[in-house]
Amino acid sequence: MSDISQARAELDRLGESLRAQLVELITELTPGADLDLLFLDEPGIVDWHEPLKYRYSADSFRGERADVPAAELVRRAEAQLTTAGWQVTETRETGATERTVVTGTRDGNTIEIQVGEHTPTVYYSGHTPAMALQAVSTFEWPDPVKTAETVTPGHVLCYECDGLGWCPECGGRGWLPDAAKGRVKCPECHQERVCPICRGAGELAISQLSPYQRGYYPQLREGE
Ligand SMILES: [Zn+2]
Ligand SMILES: [Zn+2]
Repeated sequence: MSDISQARAELDRLGESLRAQLVELITELTPGADLDLLFLDEPGIVDWHEPLKYRYSADSFRGERADVPAAELVRRAEAQLTTAGWQVTETRETGATERTVVTGTRDGNTIEIQVGEHTPTVYYSGHTPAMALQAVSTFEWPDPVKTAETVTPGHVLCYECDGLGWCPECGGRGWLPDAAKGRVKCPECHQERVCPICRGAGELAISQLSPYQRGYYPQLREGE
């Protein structure tokens, strides 16, 4: 098995372990919550730098603590996590939203439970560590869809992409590498991936060129 498929297997294992622990907590602490809403089916991308990093995460799943006092629910949550081998920390927030946040970590997984003093709603969040699941890919530019040899009679190669057909800025990826964000939307094609002038054809009909466009083709000026 390659390192990459091992990484995927490891991430899936962590995702399943995270889900199992969340289900156990929710079932014990706030029974009756709709567990179908606990989305942990596919890892999402959290870092767009190459190689992309993926993790499973659940955000703000809601349960109701009914008439269980907040302090008692916090105590139960901490006991349950500690028994299951999680490292537990507790943060109290005062002010307008008086609440206690219980954070558990285990094997790189993180679970957070927010228990408000003045609301019956308990929020559960959790995520696995972020892992690379693909090798760094080196981009290969596509072959042009039209060349000087294959251009249709009565047409010229597109002045913008020179026959490439794909967006000449991003090469058809729809994005460009970015130091800060990892990736940014391509400013030329706006993720449409094809050349914005020829729309992917790689060539333009001479009869439909505007006077401005004809300026790109000195060979067409003869006879004007
Ligand atoms: Zn583009
Ligand atoms: Zn073009």
